[in-house]
Amino acid sequence: MIFNLFALISILIGSLSILCCTGTQSITSDILRKINSPVDIRVLIKKMSVSDKLMIKSSGLISIESQGIRDNLRLTDDEMLNFEITKNGLKQSNKLFTFPVTIRSHDDFLFIDGESYYGHFVCEYADGTLYIINYIDLEVYLYSVVFHEIGKHGTTDAAKAQAICARSYVYSSIIYDKKSAPFDFYADESSQVYKGFRNIPSSIISSVRDTYGTILVENDEVVYTFYSSTCGGFTQPVENLFKVQRHFNSLQGVKCEYCRYSSKYYMWVQKISKKDLESKIGKFNDLKLTQFQSELPHKDKIRIISSEKTSEISLYKEFRKIIGREMIKSPFVTDITITEDLVTFKGHGFGHCVGLCQWGAIEMSLRGFSYIEILQYYFPGSKPKKIY
Ligand SMILES: [Zn+2]
Repeated sequence: MIFNLFALISILIGSLSILCCTGTQSITSDILRKINSPVDIRVLIKKMSVSDKLMIKSSGLISIESQGIRDNLRLTDDEMLNFEITKNGLKQSNKLFTFPVTIRSHDDFLFIDGESYYGHFVCEYADGTLYIINYIDLEVYLYSVVFHEIGKHGTTDAAKAQAICARSYVYSSIIYDKKSAPFDFYADESSQVYKGFRNIPSSIISSVRDTYGTILVENDEVVYTFYSSTCGGFTQPVENLFKVQRHFNSLQGVKCEYCRYSSKYYMWVQKISKKDLESKIGKFNDLKLTQFQSELPHKDKIRIISSEKTSEISLYKEFRKIIGREMIKSPFVTDITITEDLVTFKGHGFGHCVGLCQWGAIEMSLRGFSYIEILQYYFPGSKPKKIY
């Protein structure tokens, strides 16, 4: 396994550096065949509709499998493989590949919409929608997730803490949250951001490799390792925002001393015209914030008071969706000011504020804290555990 992992890392480093410079890749099928995945997950890359066109590209050997029949082909440098999506299958020239269709690039990345992906793809069709699902080794998936979630701001211990959170998030989601969908995770913030392997620096690969197989546990059970950009000074109890199957003491919220020094979202102000807001929530005389039952300053509900009635809805889950996600950046809203024609929201933080505060973690790592100290700060009572 160790040998295989190093082989894969050297493949990624080699290929990515070549990708950046020349646009070509250097993965060989001999090396790829030696990789033995510890865990494979299924990530929904894209949803498409009938009559859309699916375009893929790879400089390696591509196979397309459907109904037990397999077609192999190689594309020239500038060639794209175009599929027409029909409700019966993927049509390429005069050939129809009936669903489910598996597309595999045997010795190179596969490009979909210009993003480079790894692993193989299953195209499934249900209720008028084509689901393109990437089956990928968990450890390889993490290179992309850690880079896109935190790695662009590049501090090593923050990236290691993020790698353990992202890996534990995968495990906790699969173990605790049974899903009926044909995939395990979305490729965006609904799960974790996974956007292929373009330009991933070697420091991120090292951070994932150095925490290989490590998850976060409390009493030997994998913790729901939620994380968000900026907590604004306090992380909050997971139960305030998410329905979880298990209670963890390490997810009950902590005071965060760090994101105030690093995040531009530590404090925010958003303004909306009263007319625009009333077009979304109806006419009102006043808006009041309602406290969570906990002592933390995040708010649970907003009371909308009009001359006819008073209603109360969830601030972060419902009100934010109605008026626009960008207007309410976190559940930590501190003030609402209403003038004749303008409504101003003030708050702290960005994201749901549960679990790891990413900008807090970056600040902690800059101050010399290790990834273990970062994780134990945001998930008190938990500890890392290597499971493979
Ligand atoms: Zn914070």
